[in-house]
Amino acid sequence: MGITLASPSRLASLDGRVPTVATLCSHSSLQIFHGARSEGLPTLGICVGAPPRFYDAFPLARPDRFLSVPNVKELAGAVSRLRSEGAVLVPHGSFVEYVGAEAFAELDVPVFGNRAVLAWESDRRKERDWLESAGVPMPQLFEDRSEIRGPVIVKYYGAKGGKGFFLAKNREALEDFHATGPHVIQEYVLGTRYYIHFFYSPLVDRGYRVGHGSLELLGMDRRDEANIDELYKLGAQEELFRAGIRPTFVVTGNVPVILRESLLPKAFEVGARIVERSIELFGGMVGPFCVEGIMTEDLEFKVFEISTRIVAGTNLFISGSPYSDLIEPGLSTGRRIAREIKQAQAQGRLAEVLS
Ligand code: ATP
Repeated sequence: MGITLASPSRLASLDGRVPTVATLCSHSSLQIFHGARSEGLPTLGICVGAPPRFYDAFPLARPDRFLSVPNVKELAGAVSRLRSEGAVLVPHGSFVEYVGAEAFAELDVPVFGNRAVLAWESDRRKERDWLESAGVPMPQLFEDRSEIRGPVIVKYYGAKGGKGFFLAKNREALEDFHATGPHVIQEYVLGTRYYIHFFYSPLVDRGYRVGHGSLELLGMDRRDEANIDELYKLGAQEELFRAGIRPTFVVTGNVPVILRESLLPKAFEVGARIVERSIELFGGMVGPFCVEGIMTEDLEFKVFEISTRIVAGTNLFISGSPYSDLIEPGLSTGRRIAREIKQAQAQGRLAEVLS
């Protein structure tokens, strides 16, 4: 038996009915609706104003119904409608960001996964405490600039898409830099980026056992980041600065990747430690999460961030990935979410996967 995340009153709206998978029409919603439909669950698309037309182009991913709200920030006003629909909210990056992590955590509607994770992920300091205390290697943080021995990256808090991040080759190069807001100075890790899509299920009692349940690897991607990914074609950073071009990490797309098979044990070890520590800290992270890190030439995997929900990189694998195909052909993260909800209900264990 796993950990209870939801009170009976929170889940009362689901009593004796099939849960409706509901999410904001954006980010990975096509995959989430497609996955729910494949599992025979009803779907509800939350949108601002009229339903987006692009769903008409994808009949297998179009939600059964839409719930139109005037402003996503005011989703609290739609709580009774969502409860009467038997909705289970599936969080994704845009959904949580537009509603706001705190407001999202307070919605009195069943949410897939443990909403307590939001407080740990949305605060960079808490996130670092979680990962470091789990024994996960991370880029070094510099409180004191005199300790800097190599390249660094300066990150502003809440800089979406890495806007305004500053790269310095060394301590001297940082001297001309004057921060314009709260920031951290981090070791710039030289290596190859991997964004690893995991799924933790407290219900499954076989496979790669972690905590009370099982850790699954569903896919992996790398983000295309404008304009940093193409900088090398134009030459050194100093030249670009002279031309008034600053590197940004705004995500423009995703490409599929795989890890060398001999590195998979390392990936699982990192994923398992993060889950085990989450169980100790706040009752566990349930469902999809993404470990975002850099593999160095010494084959050390340094994690710079985790996303504690479905990430857009999983959209590459709506019809399965080289990893999920070895669990079940054609299994997407969206479908895996719907499956978990269905199985939890069949076993009378919804309170372990919803909050
Ligand atoms: P988002 O919230 O959009 O994911 P963010 O503002 O939280 O982005 P990060 O995800 O921490 O920023 O970093 C954005 C990008 O910067 C990463 O995808 C990676 O390319 C690069 N990056 C971040 N930290 C490091 C590091 N320590 N060394 C090298 N590159 C890094």
